[in-house]
Amino acid sequence: MVLNTSSDDTLLALFGGTFDPIHYGHLRPVEQLAKETALDEVILLPNNVPPHRSQPQASAQQRLKMVELAVEGNPLFSVDSRELAVDKPSYTIETLETLRKEHGAQRPMAFIIGQDSLISLYKWHRWEELLDFCHLLVMARPGYSESPDTPPLQRWYDKHRVTTPAELKRRPHGLIYQANTPLLDISGTEIRQRRQEGKSCSDLLPAAVERYIDSQGLYHA
Ligand code: ATP
Repeated sequence: MVLNTSSDDTLLALFGGTFDPIHYGHLRPVEQLAKETALDEVILLPNNVPPHRSQPQASAQQRLKMVELAVEGNPLFSVDSRELAVDKPSYTIETLETLRKEHGAQRPMAFIIGQDSLISLYKWHRWEELLDFCHLLVMARPGYSESPDTPPLQRWYDKHRVTTPAELKRRPHGLIYQANTPLLDISGTEIRQRRQEGKSCSDLLPAAVERYIDSQGLYHA
């Protein structure tokens, strides 16, 4: 295991997603996670979706704009649009390889996922290599059990899991931390459905994002 000997021991976190649209189920748990693990910076990475998966309803540019509006003026967050700039599916592992080169071998770096993503992580491209580049911070999500449930994934999870957030800053990568984030039963699917039914989503996502959705006529029947 590589120990962090760099003077820069601030913890950088990356949070990837479709963000179709971004909502409080993304933002609130991450804000809580930042307090719990003393995260210094969270970079939001809206991703390009592989052709064989169901495509987002909003365009890449619209999803990017919604992410920017959601975090405008919030110093915890910044937005990185690199995965949208290339006309091919995003593989998290490849983005992490690039970001690791940019931030140096010793900077503690983490990738944030929800519990649903942890459970299906074994389907991700080169999933077993993720911890060679970052830690994983896992946020609880209603309806998903904590345990990954798939034997190779469960073994990997048990091997790398730590329960003390302070450990995340002592190493640049390689650990999994299960956070005590609030359970918010919100999904992009629910918001798109509510919009189709003409219902307000004002308690589910920031007002600036809902205004943009209205102005673009997004998610209508
Ligand atoms: P959809 O309903 O369109 O599939 P989604 O709301 O699940 O979308 P994504 O953009 O696909 O959102 O998710 C990005 C990341 O955020 C994933 O790691 C996912 O697990 C996590 N996430 C999304 N919603 C929540 C939530 N309510 N609580 C915790 N994690 C969440």
